[in-house]
Amino acid sequence: MTIANPLAILQKVYGYDQFRDAQAEIIDHVLADNDAFVIMPTGGGKSLCYQIPALCKNGIGIVISPLIALMQNQVMALKELGVKAAAINSNQDYSSILQTYAAMRNNAIDLVYVSPERLLTDEFLALLQDCELALFAIDEAHCVSQWGHDFRPEYQGLHVLHEQFAKVPRLALTATADEATRNDIMQHLQLQTAKTFISGFDRPNIQYQIHSLNNPKQHLLTFINQHHVEDSGIVYCLSRAKVEQTAVWLTQQGKTALTYHAGMSASDRAKNQERFLREENIIMVATIAFGMGIDKSNVRFVAHLNLPKSIEAYYQETGRAGRDGLAANAWMAYSISDVAMQRHFIESSNSPQKQKRIEQQKLNAFLGLCETTRCRRQVLLEYFSDSCAPCENCDTCLHPVKTFDATIAVQKALSCVYRTDQIFGVSYLIDVLLGKDDKRIQQFHHDKLSTFGIGKEFNRAQWQSIFRQLAAHNLLGVNITGHGGLYITEVGKAFLKNKDTLHLREYVVTTASKPKTEKSRVEKINLNNVEDKSLFNLLREKRLALAKAQNLPPYIIFHDTTLMSMAELKPQNKEQMLAISGVGEKKFEKYGDEFLAVLKKNN
Ligand code: ADP
Ligand code: ZN
Repeated sequence: MTIANPLAILQKVYGYDQFRDAQAEIIDHVLADNDAFVIMPTGGGKSLCYQIPALCKNGIGIVISPLIALMQNQVMALKELGVKAAAINSNQDYSSILQTYAAMRNNAIDLVYVSPERLLTDEFLALLQDCELALFAIDEAHCVSQWGHDFRPEYQGLHVLHEQFAKVPRLALTATADEATRNDIMQHLQLQTAKTFISGFDRPNIQYQIHSLNNPKQHLLTFINQHHVEDSGIVYCLSRAKVEQTAVWLTQQGKTALTYHAGMSASDRAKNQERFLREENIIMVATIAFGMGIDKSNVRFVAHLNLPKSIEAYYQETGRAGRDGLAANAWMAYSISDVAMQRHFIESSNSPQKQKRIEQQKLNAFLGLCETTRCRRQVLLEYFSDSCAPCENCDTCLHPVKTFDATIAVQKALSCVYRTDQIFGVSYLIDVLLGKDDKRIQQFHHDKLSTFGIGKEFNRAQWQSIFRQLAAHNLLGVNITGHGGLYITEVGKAFLKNKDTLHLREYVVTTASKPKTEKSRVEKINLNNVEDKSLFNLLREKRLALAKAQNLPPYIIFHDTTLMSMAELKPQNKEQMLAISGVGEKKFEKYGDEFLAVLKKNN
């Protein structure tokens, strides 16, 4: 068995100087034929942990991946690096699949990507018996767990790898897995003897902001206009209808917005996804159906106009921003009806009671993150049993939250809900609290109630904020099948009965501030001077032209970080070009001269 030097491969093939964090250790561990369980944040560099050992060893690396888009993106990137790789999936015609099978038998290929369904067929397992295998990599390993957020039952069949190929080392890799999910992964994949490598969960280049706001859409636009005029980003919405409306609205505001949701035809979805990957400056408005397998490295922001169902889901979705390590934003705004919607989804599902309880707990943990007055990153990391100092790169660090003793306000709000028979929505209740002169209120004789006009110390926006927080704290529920009427929950009744006290966040409107970039893994390149910036734009244009000519996404040719280094360091010859991070031998051969020409002309 030949084993080449991992560092030499990193430098020659990938064009990077050195391994990051635990990469070298993981690669050595696998090269010594051991199993590994790798938990590394998105953008941390998981792929290299299996790609490089597969390239070092003689046999084939088999990568199990849950999504076709994910496989194709990786294979495309590998081919650009000059690596022999293929994906086997239903998008390909049978003859190219047969070609890959033949290459596998002849050991003429280094990496093969395959879905769990395909892998588990007798045909494929038999083929594997005839091949020389370097390793198995089980990507997105959290799919094995029912408690994870992307459960894929076929993943649970993957223990056959251990049974039938006991000598071949296996790696399971994931970015987000809480304790229960991690245990499931070890157990279902029979990885009990594997060494676990946890690289921490932090994504220091992402700035987190969560706002509870009126008119989130308008705030979203302000946020995009202030910080992301020239960038690509994703906007998540809960429903298909909201996706459509939001995209139309953003388009009217002069943005290039595309849609993606399960109600669209497969071909329309594929078309929009392709455009998002291949063009710059596009906003993808989508339901959560979009995103897994989106490897686009320069997504600069992820916005939520809805409430994710758990911290894992939020972390996974926001994690799609800033894979290249450059500063990125995770921005979210939610309303009271979002809280109601998510609770309703859980309650009305057909899941067993136990699962519903777990889902409610996960939602509550997420709402805890929304309502926290602490550093958001600390709360996020603690959820994954990790930790950090206050980050100075989240909204609560940048704009410390003021709280106030809301006990009296809560009593007034709950009492108003109770006395109006728990059937009215927020705006009516606020009208009563503010003592508004209103026909409907008079019709119902609610102007005679003791709660009429007792809330004048707050304005409408402040009361809205209070009601949202009460729903988030689960003191109030929203009757979603009726007309959005609020009712007092068991928690709310207990609050009144026990004469509890409560502090709430003061209502303030904040907007995003510029993300900080001096964190450890955040790339330090900062094109401050105008010439470098315009050179960067010229390099981007060159990249886009080359990408279009070959029908490739631009970031597959070079990442933004690589172009930024070029703009800053201005290499003038082959040697200097190869010293740029991300320029390997094959890439230089293919594109070096074209980019050198741009650099020389503008020197
Ligand atoms: P993950 O799968 O963990 O989300 P990737 O494997 O896609 O992350 O890596 C994220 C980015 O970082 C990729 O562009 C990759 O090429 C780059 N990268 C990985 N390892 C290194 C390294 N040692 N030095 C420089 N860049 C790296
Ligand atoms: Zn913080």
